[in-house]
Amino acid sequence: MAENFDVAVIGSGPGGYVAAIRCAQLGLKTACIEKRMELGGTCLNVGCIPSKALLQSSEFYWKIGHEAKSHGIDIPKADFNFKQMMSRKTQIVSSFNQGIAGLFQKNKITRFAGTASFQNPTTLSISNSGSTQEISARYIILATGSEPIGLPFLPFDERRILSSTGALALEQPPKKMLVVGAGIIGVELGSVYSRLGSEVIFVEFLDRICPTFDESLSKELQKLLQGQGMQFNLSSKVISADISDKQITLKVAMADQSVQEMSSDAVLICIGRKPYTLGLNLDKAAVLVTEKGFVKIDGAFRTSQPHIFAIGDIVDGPMLAHKASEEGIAVAEIIVGHRPKIEYAAIPNVVYTHPEVASVGMTEAEAKAAGLDIKVGTFAFKANSRARCTGEEEGFVKMIAESKTGTIVGIHIIGAHASELIAEAALAIEKRCTFEEIAATPHAHPTLSEAIKEAALAVDKRAIHK
Ligand SMILES: Cc1cc2nc3c(=O)[nH]c(=O)nc-3n(C[C@H](O)[C@H](O)[C@H](O)COP(=O)(O)OP(=O)(O)OC[C@H]3O[C@@H](n4cnc5c(N)ncnc54)[C@H](O)[C@@H]3O)c2cc1C
Repeated sequence: MAENFDVAVIGSGPGGYVAAIRCAQLGLKTACIEKRMELGGTCLNVGCIPSKALLQSSEFYWKIGHEAKSHGIDIPKADFNFKQMMSRKTQIVSSFNQGIAGLFQKNKITRFAGTASFQNPTTLSISNSGSTQEISARYIILATGSEPIGLPFLPFDERRILSSTGALALEQPPKKMLVVGAGIIGVELGSVYSRLGSEVIFVEFLDRICPTFDESLSKELQKLLQGQGMQFNLSSKVISADISDKQITLKVAMADQSVQEMSSDAVLICIGRKPYTLGLNLDKAAVLVTEKGFVKIDGAFRTSQPHIFAIGDIVDGPMLAHKASEEGIAVAEIIVGHRPKIEYAAIPNVVYTHPEVASVGMTEAEAKAAGLDIKVGTFAFKANSRARCTGEEEGFVKMIAESKTGTIVGIHIIGAHASELIAEAALAIEKRCTFEEIAATPHAHPTLSEAIKEAALAVDKRAIHK
């Protein structure tokens, strides 16, 4: 007979594994089914963590070559060992794979290895290498994530025609890399290979890079990445490809209406990700999806079946690990009758380039489109004493507040360690702080965070160092 659980979670990414742990903490008998060999999903295995490990190693190398001298450190010629960079990345990933397995054991979560598919709305079959077993559950949480979108005429081979997954597992940096799509994942992975000596050229369909960010930050980031040697073709579209043994040649419709050929030894395609529900047999559970393939949910993550929930990348919204985890925790709490609330406006979004870009709340254009009467304060890191000491003077903080009430509606940062600085901004949005409250909060000196206080003062034209 099928083993019965209170909750079965399908997928062990940051949505699924966090949901499973919270369910177990709340006393529910919990199972988690994962079809990958390892736990942790896209984020841990082929996403957030391996990309940030390679970004760190490549930035370290780049800084030795470009910044050590100004600090009075002479390093004749730094070189890198790509194999070691990759193996460091793999070790970091495996240590977290084991960490999640340990958390599952500690929380008495039953782990099933295999692909789950619905037999009926409460029974799942789990298949693994030809063998199948069934489990049933009172509640089921779908957290099966997303996969990269490809181009029909450029099928991924993950050797030369790469998705982000292939780009995180190369044997050596390519001489030249064409990156199709200058969104977050594209500019992060493009940065890794540019720092390691690849010629990196972007082809971006829209008229700016990282288009979900405030326009002023997108433009500043493009300027700074260009300064590091990356090239950008905006308002351009890849229309066909010729793949030969030697090289890949893309035909690109350029902004000026001309068609240009661009050749390289590797092409990285980062044009977005789509929800992954393949093999789940959603029809057997009568779970509905939208036209774009996202699982349909209500305001409490319930699918068309009230006992089946869906979270993370398979539902509409930003495809971010921390968003998936927040939803995982919320669903577990909803199952036991709590009424959690996620403040979506306070979910930060980060680009881990150098400098980093981090943003929370509305962009200036969004605030204006929403009809808000706003005031904007900016403060440049070149006037921040800590940034001067570290030699990381690029970028600025931009704070947007409602004119009448002073309530902050958006904070946008481009600069070193923006990913860490944004936490204060997220708290400010979550707590609906005013710019005056940030301006009145003492910030340690000398720190980069003083730039946030100065941006708050600048909303009222009171910045001290501007
Ligand atoms: C290169 C890259 C870098 C990224 N960097 C960041 C970052 O810095 N910060 C950030 O917030 N986000 C980042 N993301 C996005 C982040 O990885 C995703 O938003 C996040 O992983 C989504 O979590 P999830 O739990 O919804 O799904 P996933 O992490 O995709 O996990 C889903 C899991 O479900 C499993 N699964 C699927 N179908 C089945 C089935 N039928 N049976 C059993 N198991 C199944 C899959 O094998 C997978 O392990 C990045 C993504 C990529 C690709």
